[in-house]
Amino acid sequence: MYHDLPPSASFWSFLLAVDEDLAEEARNKGCPCGGRLHSANYLRKPGGTPAQLPEPQRLRLSFCCDRDGCRKRATPPSVRFLGRKVYLAAIVILVSAMRQGPTPWRFRELSKRFGADESTIARWQIFWREHFPQTAFWKVARAGFVTLGTIVSLPYALVDAFLGRHPPYRGWELLLRFLSPITVAGGLQIKISQ
Ligand SMILES: [Zn+2]
Repeated sequence: MYHDLPPSASFWSFLLAVDEDLAEEARNKGCPCGGRLHSANYLRKPGGTPAQLPEPQRLRLSFCCDRDGCRKRATPPSVRFLGRKVYLAAIVILVSAMRQGPTPWRFRELSKRFGADESTIARWQIFWREHFPQTAFWKVARAGFVTLGTIVSLPYALVDAFLGRHPPYRGWELLLRFLSPITVAGGLQIKISQ
């Protein structure tokens, strides 16, 4: 059943595998200057996620150009991180979990299985309701979802669109990859005009 919460341990490894894939794509492209990209990963402190996550799960995959005079950092999209601290997966899990509404039991379950605390969940509710619909990313991407209707149905409509049509892990992967452009610098910019 796609609306079931995925088991946490295997889900984190699954997300890491998707991130490694996204990183490989970025590395193959290389730096715009023509230089080669070398690994320059860094640790993130996850916000609203378990502090005991093993180190590989807290590692933001990133690269540096090897050419003198450039040395630019290139950070590929990620399905685990959004901005400085928070895991994108936490949002999606939250979304899936709240299909039947944010009951106290659901909060407890999220908290226990994924370490998302109540304020994190509240923050992400605001993100989906108020911030995400205003992003430049969504204003372009929503054209591909003409049948989704009003933004009132966000983010549930997205979950349905991807997980309703594919086997669970494939659906998760496609949904997370779809959202991954918002995880790089500038990805959450708000577009004022329509
Ligand atoms: Zn370069």
